[in-house]
Amino acid sequence: MSKSSLSVAQALDRLLATIYPLSKEQVPLLGCLGRVLAQDVVAIIDLPPFSNSAMDGYAVRAADVIHASSERPVTLTVVGDDTVEKETLRLLGSGEAMPIMTGGPLPPGSDAVLPVEFTSDASAMVGRTLPDRIEVLEPVVRGDYLREVGQDVRRGTLVLQDGHRLRPQDISMMAALGISNPSVYRRPMVAILSTGDELLEIGEPLIPGHLRDANSYGLAAAVQAAGAVALRLGIAVDQVEAVVERLDHAVEAGVDLIISSAGVSMGVFDFVRSAIEAHGELSFWRVNLRPGKPIVSGSYRTVPFLGLPGNPVSALVTFQIFAYPVIARLSGSRVAEPLKLMVRVDHALQSDGRESYLRAKVRWEEGEYRARLTGSQDSGVLSSLVAANALLVVPADVETVTAGEILEAILLGSICHWVGLGEGLCGADAVEIDPDEG
Ligand code: AMP
Ligand code: MG
Repeated sequence: MSKSSLSVAQALDRLLATIYPLSKEQVPLLGCLGRVLAQDVVAIIDLPPFSNSAMDGYAVRAADVIHASSERPVTLTVVGDDTVEKETLRLLGSGEAMPIMTGGPLPPGSDAVLPVEFTSDASAMVGRTLPDRIEVLEPVVRGDYLREVGQDVRRGTLVLQDGHRLRPQDISMMAALGISNPSVYRRPMVAILSTGDELLEIGEPLIPGHLRDANSYGLAAAVQAAGAVALRLGIAVDQVEAVVERLDHAVEAGVDLIISSAGVSMGVFDFVRSAIEAHGELSFWRVNLRPGKPIVSGSYRTVPFLGLPGNPVSALVTFQIFAYPVIARLSGSRVAEPLKLMVRVDHALQSDGRESYLRAKVRWEEGEYRARLTGSQDSGVLSSLVAANALLVVPADVETVTAGEILEAILLGSICHWVGLGEGLCGADAVEIDPDEG
């Protein structure tokens, strides 16, 4: 590593040292997928809240039927019936069986459920009046076929922790516990600015020497995939005033982070640096990283600022490496690490000694993950990133990797591949429909 450049880990440490979780808010559970909990969730009830049947059958006293067999059936008298509506259930006496459906509450006195299949009339519960008596052909023991109160979660248990990003199963758990408006961290609002005289809006016709602004769309999507709200600032031409005007708009909108692309190298036309230097604080880092060496970090009028390189590939890769953890930290998430796999490379690789993130496709083959590059690693080539589902990490100071070696790979492509993420941010919002209204 050259003396003047930081390792990726050092740069990330410096960057995160100034970032803190946003404020908390209470949000209806239906809107909580992908949000980060800003409270611990401690069960204030047992789950299940009452002992209930795991089968359709009869609540019984196990002692009555412990010796039952088809040779020596035991006869029980059928009593009562189970309906959840009943305030209290009748006490089950010796020699009695009370019909019970899956999930139904166990009557006092009973200590096991006898599946209907264990009786001589296995179809007794299908749309007919129940028999007065049943013949028990198989035994059950105490505790059979029932779910004890608190078997899933005991009252007082810590179920979910502050900093956890909510997934569907977590939402189920909170609903079961009666938590309708959990406290979550505010979703970060992130402004995205493209810069460059050569850039055209998406709908503009191509003219010589120009290209369309790919970055503000790609980065806005990456922001959304990270669980944050994207505010696209459009394109600023290469003039300090144009950059300042758009950045000021972002500040007025109350954004929590500004991300720009391009205009941060040593080029004469790089006005982002000048704008930040004039109105904020700037650290210009050389990170020992490929792609995407120059990274600018700092603040613009006190709003955290991150300047990414201009090439679409470099912009997206450095987003994954630097912006994603920043957004995760702002979001209150305790997990900012991508999910990594160990993969065997199909072919030899060359690197240049920088910590390199190479576009690759990972597949499962014969009991292991294998990977090959998806094409040119030139930072101007977006198609090889489109073809990739992972980034292969070649550590710093490694210049050759031989075929068959094992490398780390970071999975790309979907929010679902990030550890602990919400995994639901790709979809539409959920709404509440009340059939009783209007
Ligand atoms: P720069 O850092 O301004 O020198 O830009 C580096 C390269 O990235 C140049 O080839 C730019 O044309 C390209 N580039 C910069 N911004 C964008 C953008 N928003 N969309 C597509 N390419 C871009
Ligand atoms: Mg430029």
